[in-house]
Amino acid sequence: MGQRARFVVALPFLVLAATTLRAQPPHSDNAHGAGTNGSSWIAHYREPAARLIGEAMSSTFAWQRLAFLTDTIGNRLSGTPALERAIQWAADEMKRDGLENVHTERVLVPKWVRGAESAEIVEPAYQPLVMLGLGDSAGTGPDGLQADVLALHSFEELDAKASQVRGKIVLFNVTFTTYGETVRFRSSGPSRAARYGAVAMLIRSVGLDGLRTPHTGALQYAPDAPRIPAAAIASEDADRLQRMVDRGGRVVVRRKMEAHFEPDAESANVIGELRGREKPEEIVVVSGHLDSWDVGTGANDDGGGCIVTWEALRIMKKLNLRPRRTVRVVLWTNEENGGRGGLAYRDQHRAELGRHVMMLESDGGVFRPLGFGFTGNELGRQAVKAIATLLVGIAADQINPGGGGADIGPSVTEAHIPAMSLDVDGSKYFLIHHTPADTIDKIDAVEMAKCAAAVAVMAYVVADMPQRLGQ
Ligand SMILES: [Zn+2]
Repeated sequence: MGQRARFVVALPFLVLAATTLRAQPPHSDNAHGAGTNGSSWIAHYREPAARLIGEAMSSTFAWQRLAFLTDTIGNRLSGTPALERAIQWAADEMKRDGLENVHTERVLVPKWVRGAESAEIVEPAYQPLVMLGLGDSAGTGPDGLQADVLALHSFEELDAKASQVRGKIVLFNVTFTTYGETVRFRSSGPSRAARYGAVAMLIRSVGLDGLRTPHTGALQYAPDAPRIPAAAIASEDADRLQRMVDRGGRVVVRRKMEAHFEPDAESANVIGELRGREKPEEIVVVSGHLDSWDVGTGANDDGGGCIVTWEALRIMKKLNLRPRRTVRVVLWTNEENGGRGGLAYRDQHRAELGRHVMMLESDGGVFRPLGFGFTGNELGRQAVKAIATLLVGIAADQINPGGGGADIGPSVTEAHIPAMSLDVDGSKYFLIHHTPADTIDKIDAVEMAKCAAAVAVMAYVVADMPQRLGQ
C-alpha cells in the first residue's frame, strides 16, 4: 500500500502542470474546446472538490444521521412498519435539507415474516444450535421436523451422494471464501437438496468466522423443487455437527420455523434531487437501499450506503454548489428479498432512462473508502479516473473494474447506463453482513465521512463536467 500511495500522490501535480500548459476555459460548453480528452478540464474542479471534502470531513453529521436511523427506527425488512417509518423519515429529512422534488414512488413488495424459530441437536445429546432462518424460507409447520444430518461440502458431493439424501437434513458445510463463491449454497442449495428428497437444509453461515454469529440472507427456490425449510447456523455449530458426523453414528436435529409470506405490502423508493442549473433533464443517480434484514439494525447493509449517497446532495446544497446536470438520490426499497424497488424505478422512469448519465450504488458498507468500481466505455473510464485524482487526499482514488449494484442493475442493463459502486475496505464486512452484529458501533465516523466526501466529489464532477460521461 505504501508504494502505491507514493505513486498516486504525485498525480495531482502532473495534472496541474498539464493544465497550465493547455489552459481551457473552465465551464465552457464549446463541445470541441472542453471535451474530457486530456486532463486539463479536471483542474477546474480542484477547488470545489476540496470544499466538498472539507465539508464532509468537518462534522460527524453522516454518522449521527445513521445512528438515528438505526437506533430509533431499527431494522427495516420489506413490509414492516419500521421500513415505512424509515421511508417517511427520509423524505421529511430530505425536505429539511433543502433538497428538491422530494417524493416517494410506490412499490408493492413481498412481505416475508420470520416468526419464532429454533434448531437443536437431539441425538446423540441435546445441544441448541445458533441459527437464523434464510430469508424467504418456508416454515416447518407447527410440529417442526426432525431428521438425520447429512453433511456435504459441494454440489458435486450432493450429486454423488444423491441416494443418501432422501428424508435427511442436508448440511452444506462450505467454508466462506468470497461472497460470490459461497453464496450459491445459500441461494440454490435448498432446491438442489430438495430435488433428491431432503426434508430441510442447513448451511454454514455465508460469512467470515465470527463469535458464533449466524448470517441470514435470501434463498431462491427453483420452481420445480419442493420448498423445504432452510436456515443458516453459526460456523462453530457447523464444525460441531461435522465432528459428530465424522465420528460415525446418528446425528439428529430438530427444527421449528414459523416463517411464512403474507400478502404483498405497500412500500416506496425515496427520491430527492438537486436540479441541474443548465441541463436539468440529464440525471446522475446516487443510491443505497433503505430496507434491511430483520436482525441487527442494517447499519452497514445498507443504511450507511443510503446516508453517504444522500450526503452528496446535502453537502452540495449546503455549499451552494449546483452542478450543470441534476443529481438525484434514490433510497431503494426491497433490495434484500425481491429487488422490486430497482425494477419499479426502471419501469416508472423508462422514458428518461436515456437521459441518465451515470448511476451509482453504495452497498458494500461504509468502511474506509478505496475508490469506485466503474462499468462503462473507455472514455467514461478515463474521465472517472481523472475525477478520482481529486480524491488522492483521502486515499479514495482507485477506479476498479466492475461497478454496479443490485438496485441500479435493471435500469443500467436496459439503457446501457455507465454504472458505479463505492469501493471500501471490505475486510470486516462479512463478519457482520446479515447478522445481529450489523450495528452502527462497527462504523467509524471519519471513515464514513470520507465515503460521503468521495461520493460527493464523484457525483458533482460527473454532473457538472462539460461533456456527458462517456461521450
Ligand atoms: Zn445490501
